[in-house]
Amino acid sequence: MSDDLKLSGFARRDLLKAGAAAAGLAYAAGPLSAQGPAKKGNRIDIHAHVWTDEYLDMMERFGVKDTSVQRKKGAGPEEADMAKRFAQMDAAKVTKQILSICPQAPHFEDKNNAVAAARAANDLYADVVRRWPARFAAFAALPLPHVDESLKELDRAMAQPGFVGATIGTFPAGRSPADPSFFPVYEELNRRGTILFIHPTGCNIYSPLIAEHHMTWMVGAPMEDTMSVLHLMEAGIALKFPKMKIVNCHLGGALPMLYQRFDNQYGWEDPRFPEKPSIAAKRMWYDSVGHGHPPALRAAVDTLGADRIVLGSDFPYEAGELYKRAIGYIEQAGLKKEDATQILDFNAARLLGML
Ligand SMILES: [Zn+2]
Repeated sequence: MSDDLKLSGFARRDLLKAGAAAAGLAYAAGPLSAQGPAKKGNRIDIHAHVWTDEYLDMMERFGVKDTSVQRKKGAGPEEADMAKRFAQMDAAKVTKQILSICPQAPHFEDKNNAVAAARAANDLYADVVRRWPARFAAFAALPLPHVDESLKELDRAMAQPGFVGATIGTFPAGRSPADPSFFPVYEELNRRGTILFIHPTGCNIYSPLIAEHHMTWMVGAPMEDTMSVLHLMEAGIALKFPKMKIVNCHLGGALPMLYQRFDNQYGWEDPRFPEKPSIAAKRMWYDSVGHGHPPALRAAVDTLGADRIVLGSDFPYEAGELYKRAIGYIEQAGLKKEDATQILDFNAARLLGML
């Protein structure tokens, strides 16, 4: 074992697993297409949000500077908002949305604030799922960077109906998603064999070149996705926790475009990667949120494989005509029909055990 690999903390069995995966594409979580065709699909949107003004007020009290981007977007749990949401879901033949509280994730240095916000988020989602169990399930919010409290909150949330995994921001309280202090949480998600949905937080990857130019969501968010995916691959997180199903947002950011570059350069620039980025990338999943841009979706499918792409909309940011497009562009992108069908109606449902 080289010093680099020793440094990366990999045991021999991890390397053997990596070799097996590279040779036979026998990914730990299993290629979805190998699980056999299901007769009837289930169109599930894995990327959608609900917020209340009360929750957003709490976030501002705890120091979040701007929650206006979440307000007045039709993402409340009131009957009127929900009626409009359900009409859009029905028009797009979406049966269910999986809700996540991000980007307003409860990641605060202050432990009490983090726990209070995570509990509030999970209580809100428990209530929404209880009221509309046919239309929603939810990812549990975690009060990272506080690991013991996150484990407790995960237990509390997952004991309630309708919670199907956990969600964290890309860089919780400024930490890498691959921070070793988070490993107990990943061990628990791995033990449960459940989903970790990782979503941008509007942190601009801590670059004033993004923040000061008001490009937080235009480009900051997909850069967060890109950097988060790279950190996860560099630390071999999907190798270490093979039953935790990691779902990244927005087609993995720039991942499809930079795929070959990563493979060509990591060896001399960052040899801590325990395996080729192109192999590591296929141990995770990516939602289909590409703002209705067919070439981006085609690049992701060509690069990562259709079985790695799960349906997502980013409701309420893609609402109305944009919601229709977020779903419809998958059929209209020139993909093979079988690939489009798997992305639309099977991949998310399989990942969630909802087929
Ligand atoms: Zn989102």
